[in-house]
Amino acid sequence: MLDKKLLEILACPKCKGELEYQADSQDADRGKLICRRCKLVYLVERDIPNMVVEQAGTLKDDAAASVQVF
Ligand SMILES: [Zn+2]
Repeated sequence: MLDKKLLEILACPKCKGELEYQADSQDADRGKLICRRCKLVYLVERDIPNMVVEQAGTLKDDAAASVQVF
């Protein structure tokens, strides 16, 4: 599980907005950090978030992360 303190200081590298963490239901060390503003999905592997915008997925590409967009 991603450290909550780490989650608090993490921000979307693109828009500096808040990120929403979604843990993988099968593997607690994995998850996604979602920026609703940019519709980007940053992958978390072994509790290490990959915050590279170029490597982030988009919400549209990721059916599992289909959250409502404001
Ligand atoms: Zn963003």
